[in-house]
Amino acid sequence: MIIPVRCMTCGRVLGDKWEIFKKRVKKGENPKKVLDDLNIKNYCCRALFLTHKDISKEVAKFKRVQ
Ligand SMILES: [Zn+2]
Repeated sequence: MIIPVRCMTCGRVLGDKWEIFKKRVKKGENPKKVLDDLNIKNYCCRALFLTHKDISKEVAKFKRVQ
């Protein structure tokens, strides 16, 4: 869905870096380099970025059942 605002393991704020990460990886940059530039060093935080899949647009098609 949406990337967690904070890392669930160490508590570092990551929510503000997702858009930057997504944009740069889409341009063809190596995800490792982008994470190094963003100063994200912990394995827990890096895993969150590398394994995240943004599906909010797909989920938005479905309405809530009352
Ligand atoms: Zn972390």
